[in-house]
Formats: sequence, structure tokens, C-alpha cells
Amino acid sequence: MAVRPIVITGEPVLHQTARRVEAFDAELVDIVADMYETMDVAHGVGLAAPQIGVPLRLFVYEMGNDDRVPPRGVVVNPILTLGKISTDRPDPDDESEGCLSVPGENYPLKRAEHVRVQGFDVDGNPVEFEATGWFARCMQHEFDHLNGKLYTDRLDERQARKARKAITKNGWGVPGGSWMPGVDADPFGHDEDDLDEGGHDEHLV
Ligand code: ZN
Repeated sequence: MAVRPIVITGEPVLHQTARRVEAFDAELVDIVADMYETMDVAHGVGLAAPQIGVPLRLFVYEMGNDDRVPPRGVVVNPILTLGKISTDRPDPDDESEGCLSVPGENYPLKRAEHVRVQGFDVDGNPVEFEATGWFARCMQHEFDHLNGKLYTDRLDERQARKARKAITKNGWGVPGGSWMPGVDADPFGHDEDDLDEGGHDEHLV
């Protein structure tokens, strides 16, 4: 197992549709193990394969939830069925997301409060569950990664302007950007108060 570098917005793999997983083999098991380790060291609650440069349709998550779903898992070849998304203005205090591929930034956006998730585990067994609240948000954020979409692509005009500015200021938006969890300084500046017992930041989906 190894922590892998996380690619930053502008890297092409983040902006293209990922391929379906065809083989549930030892290589997939290794990728999933590396994804868990990378997510944990980065303090995220979700990580999609394209974020470590692997253009395949799977993501891992680590998030307690009210939906009786195991708090840690992987979903391969997911299909999501979304509830309605409110058109209200998003609340910066309660609805701000962060993304490990847009390090150090947070912007609010509306998501569906409820989502049905179908897919497979690492052995190819079917998984299916309902997710609500922040867990539903995490599922939508990770699923978007598999379709070449970042949360910054979904912001309203006001937030999108701020995000574009930050991306330009950081020199992102071009290929080649990455950072190494556990080696580079934590871009979100987490301290213990920001993290749950397992060392994860539930806003960093
Ligand atoms: Zn993300």
C-alpha cells in the first residue's frame, strides 16, 4: 500500500469521463488500498480514482451516516439516482465543500438531500443503498469526479467567479499539478478540532 500524489484541477484526468472497471482483480484491490490510504492521510472523507490519476469509475469514502451504511467503503461502477436539488442560494456555513483536487479552497453549493447509490464492491458483489444529508453530498461529489466534473464546475456565478480567481492565483487550471498528502503541508491547515475521531474532515468530500 502507498499514499499516492493527488492531482490538481487542470490535470486532464480530472476533466474527462472515467472508464468502467472491467476486471475485479488484484490490481483493482491494490488501487483501492492505495485510495483508502491516500484519503486517510489527506483527511478527506471521499476520494475518486481520477484524483490519483487513475481513469477508472470507482471511489472510496469514510463517513459516518444516518443511513445504516458501513462508514467506510468503495463503490465501483456506481449509478446514482438523485433527489431534487434546491434552487435556493447555498449557505456558506452549512453547504461549503472542499475537494482534495482544489486544495485549500471551499465553496458552497446545493446538492440533492437524498440519493440512491448502486454499484459493486471490490470483489464485484452488488451494493445498493440510500444516502442522505452530507453522506448524500459526498456520493454526488465523488460520482461527479467519474464524469470529469469538479464541484467548482457546479457553483453559482458568484462562487464560480471566486473559484476561478483562486485557481488562477494558484497557477492551477493547467496540466501537471499535484500534491503529496503527508509530505506537503496540509493545504487545508487541519488541526485536531477540524477532524473527527478517525482523523477525517467531513466537509472535505
Ligand atoms: Zn473532490
